[in-house]
Amino acid sequence: MEKIQNYINGVFEAPQSGKYFDNIEPAKGEVYSQIPDSQVEDIEKAVSAAKNAFPIWSKMSIEERGDWMTKVADGIANRMDEFIAAESRDNGKPIKIAEHVDIPRAISNFKFFATGIQHFASESHNMVGVGINYTLRKPLGVVGCISPWNLPLYLFTWKIAPALAAGNCVVAKPSEVTPYTAYLLCKVMDEVGFPKGVLNIVHGFGQSAGDAIVRHKETKAISFTGGTATGKAIATIAAPMFKKLSLELGGKNPNIIFDDCDFDEMLKTTIRSSFANQGQICLCGSRIFVQKGIYDKFKNAFVEKIKQAKVSNPEDPKAQLGAVVSEGHMEKVLGYIDLAKEEGGTVLAGGNRVVLDAPYDKGYYIEPTIIEGLDYQCRTNQEEIFGPVVTITPFETEKEVLTMANSTEYGLSATLWTNNLKRAHRMADEIDAGIVWVNSWLVRDLRTPFGGVKSSGVGREGGWEALKFFTEPKNVFIKS
Ligand code: NAD
Repeated sequence: MEKIQNYINGVFEAPQSGKYFDNIEPAKGEVYSQIPDSQVEDIEKAVSAAKNAFPIWSKMSIEERGDWMTKVADGIANRMDEFIAAESRDNGKPIKIAEHVDIPRAISNFKFFATGIQHFASESHNMVGVGINYTLRKPLGVVGCISPWNLPLYLFTWKIAPALAAGNCVVAKPSEVTPYTAYLLCKVMDEVGFPKGVLNIVHGFGQSAGDAIVRHKETKAISFTGGTATGKAIATIAAPMFKKLSLELGGKNPNIIFDDCDFDEMLKTTIRSSFANQGQICLCGSRIFVQKGIYDKFKNAFVEKIKQAKVSNPEDPKAQLGAVVSEGHMEKVLGYIDLAKEEGGTVLAGGNRVVLDAPYDKGYYIEPTIIEGLDYQCRTNQEEIFGPVVTITPFETEKEVLTMANSTEYGLSATLWTNNLKRAHRMADEIDAGIVWVNSWLVRDLRTPFGGVKSSGVGREGGWEALKFFTEPKNVFIKS
């Protein structure tokens, strides 16, 4: 069986302990490769390689750094089909999502920051008759990047690319649930002859390998995307060490639909924003609030469409939903459906595990599920489920829906459907969220700040925000 390897100082290697654990294909519920169970000693080696590489990488011209990153982007594009198949196999997502979303976006991440750094200017502040201040923006040194399983290569490269562009050297750990495309990325770096030690990729569990990255005194910043509880654990360690921290955490996003919206457009997009990637996107709108005038119309149309949605193996080109990422996650999601029933909810569509024909009969499939009749304060409506489960709730007024929308501990994103311009501005201003989409969902411009408020995180990724995070400003004053 294939053994995934770490990539440290430009060399593929086994974990020093020699230990591996299983990588499971969610579509079949079968083990298909082995993942290094890396420990402190592997992280130590990776950090040391990164530290040694830093003087050369950080002093390299931005054009040259950009060229290296563009080579990586092109290398991924050259192996496009392999990356797409691997992402789908590792995660359970339909091939077409990996093809249209994950892998193209990973390529864009490298390209965007390879050129973005060439336009990144620092500030100067003139004091008339006194002198001038100018701000240098220097790379931090070695930084740690830790990412989750839902959009594996997409989110991994969203951190790595700005870190590298800004001149840092990186020790990165992908999710142990979906490590494969990070391994393929190492093969691309090897092929293009990427400078050794600049990007080191180490596999393993969060509690061991991830924790060692966070605790290492030489990692000057930690960029983390994952669950809120993990973010809290990381902050507890990193904050007293005064590391820079970027935490992109959980969400429980509201999708607010007013009577005056464009109904067909809203319905089409709401199907995506509810169930794309099996509902395993941190930006999915899992709490749908619908104004009373169109509640029944929406409910009937939404339920009818979702009952027809095809849950199938990821290779089926007609699959609208594939497998969820793991058995444990499937049990968690099904547990929340049981909880919703206990809390008085009515399941209008879905609600069950799906068992496909062999060889997919042991895979982790769940019907897209719609639940109504729940109080907005119940656990089902407050806790992140992160699967193909949404609730629908009627409302009458803006004030009422704002109270409901802002009632959770989270504040990542929100979606608004209305043709009333003033209302859209008012609501966008008042919603607790770092990202608001009006009459749309998941339209992404890589220049915009990305991140959440409250328990959804600290800091922003994207554009200048990311480059600022991965650099340290130093002010210099020169007397005139
Ligand atoms: P997770 O927190 O379990 O794991 C994320 C990563 O952290 C993994 O690589 C894991 O190995 C590592 N990790 C775990 N414990 C660690 C520790 N103690 N120290 C260091 N690293 C540790 O999250 P997950 O289950 O992989 O992903 C799902 C979560 O990610 C959801 O909550 C989802 O909302 C969130 N997410 C957020 C965003 C965003 O941009 N805000 C995007 C995608 C996913």
